Amino acid sequence: MDTRITVVVPVFNEAGNVEMLYGRIGEVFANLTGYDYQVLFVDDGSTDESRSVIKAMADAGAQVSCIELSRNFGKEAALSAGIANADGEAVVLMDADLQHPPALIPALIQEWEKGADVVIGVRKRNPDEGAFRKLSSRTFSYLMRVMSDVPSVSGATDYRLLDRRVVDEFKRFTEHGRMTRGLIDWLGFHRAYVSFDADKRHTGTARYGYRKLIALGFSALVSHSKIPLRVAAYLGIPITIFAGSLGLFIIIEQLLLGDPLAVDVSPIGMIAVMILFLNGLVLICLGLTSFYIEKIHQDTVNRPLFVVKRERA
Ligand code: UDP
Ligand code: MG
Repeated sequence: MDTRITVVVPVFNEAGNVEMLYGRIGEVFANLTGYDYQVLFVDDGSTDESRSVIKAMADAGAQVSCIELSRNFGKEAALSAGIANADGEAVVLMDADLQHPPALIPALIQEWEKGADVVIGVRKRNPDEGAFRKLSSRTFSYLMRVMSDVPSVSGATDYRLLDRRVVDEFKRFTEHGRMTRGLIDWLGFHRAYVSFDADKRHTGTARYGYRKLIALGFSALVSHSKIPLRVAAYLGIPITIFAGSLGLFIIIEQLLLGDPLAVDVSPIGMIAVMILFLNGLVLICLGLTSFYIEKIHQDTVNRPLFVVKRERA
């Protein structure tokens, strides 16, 4: 029996790419023995001919199946739909635009066979990215790496292979506004990395404009990091300590002892210190509130309490 691999491909207006992609994937598997594959396209509300192209391929006997979403839900939702319906022993997630080279699949499978549960494609260069886009995506992934609760690697992409165990655990997530990559990282398991050069998008244009990317980035940061929520507390504590000690000094030195050091703080200066102190207190109170919000957030997102890697007899 051949090992079954499902290749999940989110598709949003990719009529010019799907056939070529399928052809390339087919060539790769033709050279691999012991594996059977199925390409699972998730049509994310395409408005072009993507659907009929995929249907024609399936009718012509291609190893293709397709899930149609009722409208455009975005790549993250489309990936989740694909993962939920993939039945292979391993699942490969791949973009439809040929930016994720199918030729990397054997390397992904090899790492999987060596024992990795998650094999992550790491991008070395992306010819479709302009300088500004590169800078912003670097900044974002840097922020994610420093602020997030889970470790990730610079250049890590959505191009990944997931073992069946990881797929089944992934299906337990119920949260909205998800970033697939972040959730897979959150799950842990044994990871391996394979680097690749991203190719240029075959046809069409990238669907993620700056507005969408910023929104996605912000939402990802909020769901994977507690730091934005704690900013108020982190700011409030030093401000309160600083203004509090300054105020104490003024009270003792100037008001009680009659200014022996001749500092001569003006009344406006005293008011400034008082305002700073009160602002610090307000920030601390905000910070306290946000700890409660954090707890509520944790409970509503309802991630699994733990994930079992392996049961041993
Ligand atoms: N995609 C999708 N839904 C969307 C936008 C994109 O399923 O709303 C798919 C798209 O068809 C492609 C992948 O997600 O297979 C990556 O999209 P794109 O190339 O536009 O993004 P980028 O390469 O800039 O990450
Ligand atoms: Mg692309």
